[in-house]
Amino acid sequence: MLYIVPTPIGNLQDVTLRALEVLKSVDIVLCEDTRRTQVLLSHFAISKPTARYNENDLRSISRCVELLKGGKTAALVSDCGTPCISDPGWRLVKEAVSAGIKVSSLPGPSAVACALAGAGITGGAFTFLGFLPRKPGKAAKLIANAYALSVPVVLYESPYRVIKMLGLIAKTLGEDTPMIVARELSKVYEEWLRGNVGELIKTLQARAKVQGEFVLIIDRPANEPEEEDEPNPYF
Ligand code: SAM
Repeated sequence: MLYIVPTPIGNLQDVTLRALEVLKSVDIVLCEDTRRTQVLLSHFAISKPTARYNENDLRSISRCVELLKGGKTAALVSDCGTPCISDPGWRLVKEAVSAGIKVSSLPGPSAVACALAGAGITGGAFTFLGFLPRKPGKAAKLIANAYALSVPVVLYESPYRVIKMLGLIAKTLGEDTPMIVARELSKVYEEWLRGNVGELIKTLQARAKVQGEFVLIIDRPANEPEEEDEPNPYF
């Protein structure tokens, strides 16, 4: 049995009761980085064998699958949030499914859902692009194509590249494009920046140092008719 276990994105108290229960019950915890996971396990006084899985090493994946085929139970975790969402894990899940191993995916923290919920925009439909490719041409094309779907677009970005990425969004969609930038969600310095992309670039450029983790949400233009609430198929 393979459990996919989301872990906090900044505040250790955000771990779910079920995540703790599963971490306590499994034979092994498969980690992106064992040291990072050990901090979480130690905080909750969980003593459990850990092993690193390497998404880019097929032997590492095979070893994990063999373990599961041998009847062991494992929890798959990443450094933060939900494994496989802009994080390693999907290859292991795919191989486990192919090998007939039961996979259970636990709900829990993920920066994309957390940011969208606090953005104050429709969460009915959106496009999540995660981290964009480094090549500006490729990234701009993805942004333009996603925005053409007429739904908000959500991106992940690091503090080192966030101003550059906002610049690319301004160049691709225009300086007036409305955005919501969520920084350090669930942490002490949680911050929400709202405005058009040109203004947000100036705000961040005025800082001595840009720090923290970022979710960028490209909203729809202000003059666009507001989306009707989705019909509820149950009524
Ligand atoms: N698997 C994770 C999830 O479910 O959200 C995402 C992991 S990805 C390697 C890390 C990126 O997620 C960061 O660069 C940032 O864009 C976003 N992120 C993670 N934690 C965040 C936080 N506390 N506040 C804002 N963004 C965060």
